[in-house]
Amino acid sequence: MSQALPNHDIVKKYLSKSGTVRVSCVIAQQLIAELQNVHPNMSPVASVAMGRATLSACLLASQAKNGKTGLHFQGNGPIGELFVEASFEGSVRGYIANPQFDLALKDGKIDVSSAIGVGLLNVVRTLPYQKQPFNGTVIIKTGEIGSDIAWYLQQSHQIPSVVALGEHINEYGLLTAAGGLIIELMPGHTEQEIKTLEENVKNAKELSKILVDGGGEQEILEEFLKGIELMEIEHEHELSYSCTCTQEKVERSILFLSENDIQELLARENGAEVTCEFCSKQYSVDKSRLTELLEEVRKNALH
Ligand SMILES: [Zn+2]
Repeated sequence: MSQALPNHDIVKKYLSKSGTVRVSCVIAQQLIAELQNVHPNMSPVASVAMGRATLSACLLASQAKNGKTGLHFQGNGPIGELFVEASFEGSVRGYIANPQFDLALKDGKIDVSSAIGVGLLNVVRTLPYQKQPFNGTVIIKTGEIGSDIAWYLQQSHQIPSVVALGEHINEYGLLTAAGGLIIELMPGHTEQEIKTLEENVKNAKELSKILVDGGGEQEILEEFLKGIELMEIEHEHELSYSCTCTQEKVERSILFLSENDIQELLARENGAEVTCEFCSKQYSVDKSRLTELLEEVRKNALH
């Protein structure tokens, strides 16, 4: 049953033969390792929260026609804001406001719910051919992330769903397994399909247990979609951590500062030094460029 790790992570998509049950399944071993490389200061609870949000964003993004899906958890818990964005093509990036914060285990489990806290979940879907992104906001239902996504789909899109996420974190705080599944019931689904899924979910092994036992997509589908005939839908996009930050974007963001703020940057020995919160890449804007930007801000203020 145990299988070699795939050399790349992808989301697999399926549709039931009845056409009314839509499924996406992800195993994101390397992506999750990359996430921890990019954000090396994440505590175990922050890593798990980020990992689950990342799996969810990948699953939702794969179900969209194209574009990007962003999940913004704005809870009052100690890890603060958490934002993850995934594209249909599989590029992913994320940040967390207080990555170092850790919490004691609750009933032997990592307490993601308390780390996220109470607040709002904002889901932003951006399509390339639409000017305005689609925004949906719901309250954070549990802070466990999987159930929050199911709650969002029900509230904002009236789609009943099952979202199961699983991960394993070792004694050094490294995520060694991560995977997830989303099952959506589309219009026209039958009572029998609901019953079958409810029964499966009730009896299914925990997803993290399936992963730790060496299981992959096949084993996850066997547990959660027993009795439902599926066809695979082609979706050949590799998942990878990639950021869209550039020197130009950093400089453009300086144009939004006040004259005083830019003066302050100019007074610093090395000018402006900026670290991208998504990928930790360092940028610097030297004094001569800052002077030009200051001129531009002044000119714009005159208009
Ligand atoms: Zn970046």
